[in-house]
Amino acid sequence: MTAPAEDPTVGESSEGAVLGRILARLGASHALVGPGDDAAVIAAPDGRVVATTDTLVHGPDFRLAWSSGFDLGWKAASVNLADIAAMGARPTALLVALATPNGTRLSFLEHLADGLRAACDALAPGCAVEGGDLTVSDTLTIAVTALGSLEGRAPVLRSGARAGDVLAVAGELGAAGRGLAILFDRFRDAAAEPVPVDPDRLTPAEQAAVAAQLRPVPPIALGAVAAQAGATAMMDVSDGLVLDASRLASASGVTVDLGASSLGPDLPAALTGGEDHALLAAFGPGVELPRGFRVIGRVVGRSSHPVLVDGAPHDGRAGWDPYRDWDAHSG
Ligand SMILES: [Mg+2]
Repeated sequence: MTAPAEDPTVGESSEGAVLGRILARLGASHALVGPGDDAAVIAAPDGRVVATTDTLVHGPDFRLAWSSGFDLGWKAASVNLADIAAMGARPTALLVALATPNGTRLSFLEHLADGLRAACDALAPGCAVEGGDLTVSDTLTIAVTALGSLEGRAPVLRSGARAGDVLAVAGELGAAGRGLAILFDRFRDAAAEPVPVDPDRLTPAEQAAVAAQLRPVPPIALGAVAAQAGATAMMDVSDGLVLDASRLASASGVTVDLGASSLGPDLPAALTGGEDHALLAAFGPGVELPRGFRVIGRVVGRSSHPVLVDGAPHDGRAGWDPYRDWDAHSG
């Protein structure tokens, strides 16, 4: 079968042609020197740059049967934007390295670029893809580096929570985890291989959970807002609330006590579901919480367990770990 002339594969195209198709979809640059030269030049008026990177690999991190090109671009951007936000910073630029199989259609890469752009426009206006790299690989891999500005503020670390602080969260807890469970339970064939999602087989709530998994919507702008409001510690919840709260508690030398009644009707999903990229933050006693944050617990003096739920120790091991969990789900 030959490809339509207007939608060749990467292997049938030159690097310049592939790049041209992608760049045309990325929207306006916000950099001093944007895409097209050897490197981008990005303003950093604060004098400091917040930097993070996160890689999505076909297999452990996503499956093409479940994720469209748009989904992947959106997710690759949003998970990196969340790490910038979690420092109390505003995202300023993304750099994107793509390794694609030779048979990848250019239309797929266009949709991926659309997803990157849409996530930046929706979640972090003023941030855009300012550079990147293209190469060929048997395994589709999307590596994104995100940069951000503290705009004169101190970074909000994981280590600043103190006994007496309140623990609060902005964004969803558990929806993406429920979505992943739906994908694994209902959209795999007899050989346990992923098959495309049929929305007609899902209730509206289930569709929302799957969407939360494939296209998470972290509250990016609230990271800087929390920093301005005096958050003492912050991180994004990527691997499940209990696991990530235990990291914050350990870094701060405290214990956090979560209130089960504040975590919604699906407590197991809220406690252990990963990939929502909600913002978990501690605020000093008496601080008025910024709009968008809700109290889910309190910070107490260090005890034998980093995380308690209603005062009782909770096993912090539950949570998403790509190295452990893909095989467990697949096996
Ligand atoms: Mg993080």
